[in-house]
Amino acid sequence: MLLTISTTHRPATDLGHLLHKNPDRMHEKPLAFGRALMAYPEAGEDRCTFALFVEVDPVALVRGKGGPAKAGGMLDQYVNDRPYAASSMMSVAISRTISTALNGRSKDRQQLAETPIPLQATVTPVPARGQEDIAARLFEPLGYTVTATPHPLVADDDHWGDSPYITLELSGTMKLSDLLNHLYVLVPVLDNRKHYYIDQGEVEKLLAKGEGWLDSHPERQFIANRYLKRRSRLVREALARLADSADAQEELDDETRNAGEETLEQPLRLHDLRLQAVTKVLVDAGARRVVDLGCGEGKLIRHLLAQKQFSEIVGVDASLASLERAEQRLHLDKASDRVLKRIKLMHGALTYRDRRLEGFDAAALVEVIEHLDPDRLPALERVMFEFMAPALVVVTTPNREYNVLFEDMPASGNSGRLRHPDHRFEWTRAEFTAWAEPVAERFGYTVNFRPLGDEDTLHGAPSQMAVFERGRPS
Ligand code: SAH
Repeated sequence: MLLTISTTHRPATDLGHLLHKNPDRMHEKPLAFGRALMAYPEAGEDRCTFALFVEVDPVALVRGKGGPAKAGGMLDQYVNDRPYAASSMMSVAISRTISTALNGRSKDRQQLAETPIPLQATVTPVPARGQEDIAARLFEPLGYTVTATPHPLVADDDHWGDSPYITLELSGTMKLSDLLNHLYVLVPVLDNRKHYYIDQGEVEKLLAKGEGWLDSHPERQFIANRYLKRRSRLVREALARLADSADAQEELDDETRNAGEETLEQPLRLHDLRLQAVTKVLVDAGARRVVDLGCGEGKLIRHLLAQKQFSEIVGVDASLASLERAEQRLHLDKASDRVLKRIKLMHGALTYRDRRLEGFDAAALVEVIEHLDPDRLPALERVMFEFMAPALVVVTTPNREYNVLFEDMPASGNSGRLRHPDHRFEWTRAEFTAWAEPVAERFGYTVNFRPLGDEDTLHGAPSQMAVFERGRPS
């Protein structure tokens, strides 16, 4: 089975950057059921074509876990169209060989990866089981011009009519990742055969690959039904989740987005390190009543609870969902009266004066300021340093200079990219200082800066902390 993708976007050879495959040579990748061969039949400034050829070894297929159901009988296991026809194995091959492009990322051409460009794709042979216009019904609503050319059952002999196989040609102006996601989902839908066991994981795959287009596709029910091989419970779940309210989706997005930042920083165990460093500063200062501003899910609170010195710990956040998660993670429903007396979670905004937050010894803002629009910072500064005015304020924020050192940072050059989609900015060390020093001066504080995490000689540490102390000469 063969997939080709061409573009006429100039310079067309940028397709190689988008696919992370050099047009000058051939590429090969072993797969559980065979191998994938990749090459560029043409690679010019005006037009470039990438070809992915998937070779299936029917014996490996039977031996491997991905073999067809045993019920099919011996002969059916070895003699079938698997080696020749595009199917779910094409999707597997796409995700194994060009996954970065499938996910919409490009190391050297991120902007192009996010730009719709003229694309043409050919997949052949594809089993298109069902009504004649099925390919058009699936791809036209997504903005493609579709040509489906049936293959005769017997070459050069009309008498036998057409086979269920077609050559599918698509053309349109879209992002390469959109094209790949459409093919990933819809080629197996055209094929409509079961080649492996379908489970919950397939629902997740369908929703992930269908993100941004499947929920509004007029054939979404048909697609979910075929993709999930009519497993009605899974189909119902997929359709319900596609139709889910915007709110639920937003929350889910939020969780995955947070997970993204944590994954990026995880090898450094950076967040733990931050929380330990902040706790130590608060302990060393002898603070007893502390407030965690933008407490999120209560991770700092958990560290603080372990220190008997803190007699009162208040967490404040604007997000009710986060506060609920904090309540769960801290097991407040089962907590003893002694713990409940020490801890309080409050719903509030940090940019408005809130008298409940006045009179504390210390305040922490861990990875919060970068979530505020820069023009809201002056409001936060007054709330924190003029009205709350605790003796100690600890602020942490990412050090943007360090981003280039994250391997998985999804961007060209990295410098323009932020660690979390909700970050409104990330500061260099100089920018953090340039914000903190005048603020300290204006409100009668001194400020000291500390790196958080291992320092790189050139780029500094991954995160940074400013410790403000009221009325102390530096
Ligand atoms: N401090 C936590 C969470 C950091 S994420 C931790 O280190 O794990 C930033 C948090 O700030 C989010 O929970 C968000 O809801 C909260 N936040 C952002 N802007 C806010 C505002 N204006 N008022 C209150 N909370 C805010």
